[in-house]
Amino acid sequence: MTGQVASKVRTTSQRVQHRIVLVLLATACLGCGAVRRFLIPPAVTPVSKAVTGQRRQEFADVMILGGHVHGHAGPRAVVIRDGVVTAVALSSEVTQLRSGATQLIKVAGGYVTPGLVDAHVHLEGAALLADAADLRRVGTAQQLAKAMVMTSATGGEWLWGFGLSQAAFAALQPSEVEQACPDLPVYLSRDDGHAALVSAALTKWLPPDLRDEVVAANYKLDGELARHVWRLLPAQRTERLGPLVRVVLDTLQHQGITEVHTMGESSALVTALVQLEREGRLPVRVKVYLDTARPEAGDLIDGRTKRLHTPLIDVAGIKLWLDGTLGAGTAALLQPYSDRQSAGQLRYSDGELGLRIADADRRGLQVALHAIGDAAVAQVARVLRKLVRPAQAQLVRIEHVQVVPPEVREALWGLPVECSVQPRHATEDASFAKARLGAERLTWAYPGLALVAQCPVRSGSDMPVSPADPMGDWRVMAATDPAQLGVDATRGTVEELALAALTARGTAGKDAAVRAGDTADLVVWDHDPRIATPPAKPLWVIVGGSTQQVLAR
Ligand SMILES: [Zn+2]
Repeated sequence: MTGQVASKVRTTSQRVQHRIVLVLLATACLGCGAVRRFLIPPAVTPVSKAVTGQRRQEFADVMILGGHVHGHAGPRAVVIRDGVVTAVALSSEVTQLRSGATQLIKVAGGYVTPGLVDAHVHLEGAALLADAADLRRVGTAQQLAKAMVMTSATGGEWLWGFGLSQAAFAALQPSEVEQACPDLPVYLSRDDGHAALVSAALTKWLPPDLRDEVVAANYKLDGELARHVWRLLPAQRTERLGPLVRVVLDTLQHQGITEVHTMGESSALVTALVQLEREGRLPVRVKVYLDTARPEAGDLIDGRTKRLHTPLIDVAGIKLWLDGTLGAGTAALLQPYSDRQSAGQLRYSDGELGLRIADADRRGLQVALHAIGDAAVAQVARVLRKLVRPAQAQLVRIEHVQVVPPEVREALWGLPVECSVQPRHATEDASFAKARLGAERLTWAYPGLALVAQCPVRSGSDMPVSPADPMGDWRVMAATDPAQLGVDATRGTVEELALAALTARGTAGKDAAVRAGDTADLVVWDHDPRIATPPAKPLWVIVGGSTQQVLAR
């Protein structure tokens, strides 16, 4: 959020035409051979061939002139028509494609990259946080009372607080919550979003058996119990959620993000997104993965509702949690935690997981699996190796993939999976990761971009658990030891793959070059965003050919 001064976005073209060019080449032969192919420099678009032979009436909708274009040497023009990049060429070679109606974006000294993708966010959570109490510095009942008073002014039917540290979550007693929030229905999330302290008043929305479970848990809910209660709380109204979602998406757009993949969502979010798109106020593309335990996910799987796919919104799949978190000691490990007896638990049997994947396959939905521990990642590999899937089935996404020894990484090789990693979690988890895992496991934990030697990789922030910072993620991934990617990898290979992990194709696209034929999701920066100081600013953000100038106020 740094430098996010209030700013104004002006829509200058409303033309949005969706075109899928997501080329996820699930080559079953990824490995060293594939890494070798990354070394081949991105091909420069054969300029004259791209332009000659085009009829004069095929004028450009948009032309970006004077900037450097990623993957090409020297300044190039980018030509956009019908939401697609139709040429990357010398500007002298595309003059004939200009008409009076062509929008010219002149950016001498600017730098054009593909639009950035944050492949793991929780949009509804991030949006509602605007109204939630900030509990990150709360340690006592008094501090909790103060934080909750701040939020009651804007609260709806129940109040949400977010950000309790592990220590505060462990220390605060139910009686202190009642004292701080007398008779108020409150849901107080831990900072990893995977546990919550709730008040007695909140249980009025729960069926009796679940209420008993909450009481038995002493109002401290972990993992699935916390999610179960959350799902039963009254949904946020669209008129409240929509504007909050819009604020979050605007913030992302100002970091050059043109697409987000949002995890474990509800139909309330989808409704809010549809409303924003109708009003022409949805600034980025959104892929939604519904929380598998919600009835709306069941309706989609059973074919009672149709999959929503609009120019900017794609209800792409479902999200399942195979294990918990490292901080809470609930991620499922093959060997016990270093600081406790347990090894965490898997939430599904192999058979159940196989059935869930098969259900999604029947509807053409993608499955996103939360898997932090090696036991969970190994389960995905084991199940997929046995499962017979339709030829057109989508890659299974593994979210987080944090504790994976070399042999479990190898087990992913050749499987129809892609890994969605959160590069900054390696440092953000440092305060507890060594205690939980011990020194030896830490040497291979958090592989991040190195997983590219086994499968395609995407990168995401896990916002709001961690703020969106795509170029921060790029810097972490770009620092990966090239030797981890294969014998032929160089620093340049690593840096290019790190950028590719932040684009629509992920590392399956091999590089992040802007090419003719790409969907016109682009960012025009004031300079190359890989240069950290000063941080690059997006000047224009283009989604499906629709241009939006990003103006600092
Ligand atoms: Zn997450």
